[in-house]
Amino acid sequence: MKYIEEQTKRKKLYNQVQEAKGNIRVFCRCRPFRKEELSAGSATVVDLDGAKDGDLGILTGGSTRKNFKFDRVYTPKDDQVDVFADASPMVISVLDGYNVCIFAYGQTGTGKTFTMEGTQQNRGVNYRTLEELFKVAEERSDTFTYSLSVSVLEVYNEQIRDLLATSPTSKKLEIKQSSEGFHHVPGIVEAKVENIKEVWKVLQAGSNARAVGSNNVNEHSSRSHCMLCIMVKAKNLMNGDCTKSKLWLVDLAGSERLAKTDVQGERLKEAQNINRSLSALGDVISALATKSSHVPYRNSKLTHLLQDSLGGDSKTLMFVQISPSEHDLGETLSSLNFASRVRGVELGPAKRQI
Ligand code: ADP
Repeated sequence: MKYIEEQTKRKKLYNQVQEAKGNIRVFCRCRPFRKEELSAGSATVVDLDGAKDGDLGILTGGSTRKNFKFDRVYTPKDDQVDVFADASPMVISVLDGYNVCIFAYGQTGTGKTFTMEGTQQNRGVNYRTLEELFKVAEERSDTFTYSLSVSVLEVYNEQIRDLLATSPTSKKLEIKQSSEGFHHVPGIVEAKVENIKEVWKVLQAGSNARAVGSNNVNEHSSRSHCMLCIMVKAKNLMNGDCTKSKLWLVDLAGSERLAKTDVQGERLKEAQNINRSLSALGDVISALATKSSHVPYRNSKLTHLLQDSLGGDSKTLMFVQISPSEHDLGETLSSLNFASRVRGVELGPAKRQI
């Protein structure tokens, strides 16, 4: 009974974010101005007056603007609790056997890590998701038993690294399909977690491992995809049915284009790999949106890993992160255009330049 009530409540919540087509939602989040931007008198290019209705205007210069529509638009005043409240119905559906993927996309410095990881005082989607999963699992404990495990991976230059591995391995990690049909990486650590305290330890270990071996942690993390995978095994105590489902929480590499003069050697390779995987993600989502018979999952490690949680009856949520500053206008437009392509809806400019 408790389970049915809870499910009805959640379905209602979920329907509130059902304006978009299919199972793809796009939420846009604008970060606040940084102190340096404020002191430099940087002008804003974002019009957030329609944010409550999912409308966003970008002032593109002179009297022109470009309008966008998303399932949610968050202003810098919206906090982590507001954001998670909208994402939570989607993450909880992993307990019902759905595969889910949530990812944050955008230029470096626009708040991808803030949204997904957050800070100790201001925890993000990753921690809140696991907290919510444990809470709902407990509420349903008269009907279901759940077991949860967590893996933390990094994809850098098209190579997978296990951030929970205790000793370094020279063996190349590859993606395989299990007998149950799941895409997985044999040999990676799948840490069983029984409560939120254990989760925090695992997330910290993953975060610390990301820093190892890089001279500049921030630079390194902006050039790699950080991927948290939560596997859920559910057993229905009434009929003995068991299900397995997967939730990916992904902080993508920065989407910015590099100045041609900066790009050579190792940086060029990195930039090409980031470009390749982010384009591959766009192509996969486009193919899914147009119900194309071929979905090119295998064009990058990122999309290959996410295969089970992108498409079919799985649920996808994209956070497109943007800066309010005029200095970032080009990247902001590029991110929003990508996000609109993902959502499959693009509105034309409100005023055409004559
Ligand atoms: P990214 O992961 O996209 O490179 P970060 O998450 O590191 O960006 O964010 C850059 C900086 O902006 C960080 O100091 C972060 O705390 C801050 N920031 C980003 N978004 C917000 C927000 N919504 N509210 C407060 N601070 C934010």
